[in-house]
Amino acid sequence: MTMVVGLTGGIGSGKTTVAEQFARYSIDIIDADIVAREVVEPGTTGLKAIVEKLGSDILLTDGTLDRSKLRQAVFDDNHLKEWLNALLHPMIREKMKAEIDLATSPYCLLVIPLMVENNLQTMVHRLLVIDVNEEVQIARTQQRDQVDASHVRKILAAQATRPERLAAADDVISNNGDSTELEDAVAVLHQQYLAMSLQYQ
Ligand code: ATP
Repeated sequence: MTMVVGLTGGIGSGKTTVAEQFARYSIDIIDADIVAREVVEPGTTGLKAIVEKLGSDILLTDGTLDRSKLRQAVFDDNHLKEWLNALLHPMIREKMKAEIDLATSPYCLLVIPLMVENNLQTMVHRLLVIDVNEEVQIARTQQRDQVDASHVRKILAAQATRPERLAAADDVISNNGDSTELEDAVAVLHQQYLAMSLQYQ
């Protein structure tokens, strides 16, 4: 069994940045956002079920899912949102589990932005939370996505709070500083995880 380290944090907290640093140590990364796209690729049972429910208007001309149309449809309809989550969440979980089974590095990193919100801590042996001050989080997200602060605040309000996430954490990286500090924190955690992973081999 491979040891699974879960990585989570709010929008713009630095999950992608941190995951890239673990990848430099050749740690296998499983990213829930990527898996969520894969389960609705053309030819999947996920996409077939969505087309059956919403009609082929939900597809782009190339046969792929029109994500912005789906996002809008779900935004306007809570029942549809529940239906979609009930369809896709088990598929996403199964695919993530299958990828964990294929991991070959001493431990693997499972990146799930909404881990605490969706109670998925049970999938991991250890949970690493990226914590960041709200001002820093908003400024970085604004700069990256070219959106205004109120847009970021709305997303923040729909996510778990910092205390909720921290209460679930085994390890915390504070990402208010520069990228060198972040690299140093990852280097320390990598050594700890390597030592812990021996118990799982
Ligand atoms: P999302 O949940 O929105 O996908 P995320 O948690 O993956 O976000 P990143 O994309 O890694 O966050 O980081 C958000 C932005 O902040 C990026 O533009 C990234 O380059 C920048 N960033 C992350 N950490 C630092 C840092 N320590 N110093 C400066 N910029 C940083």
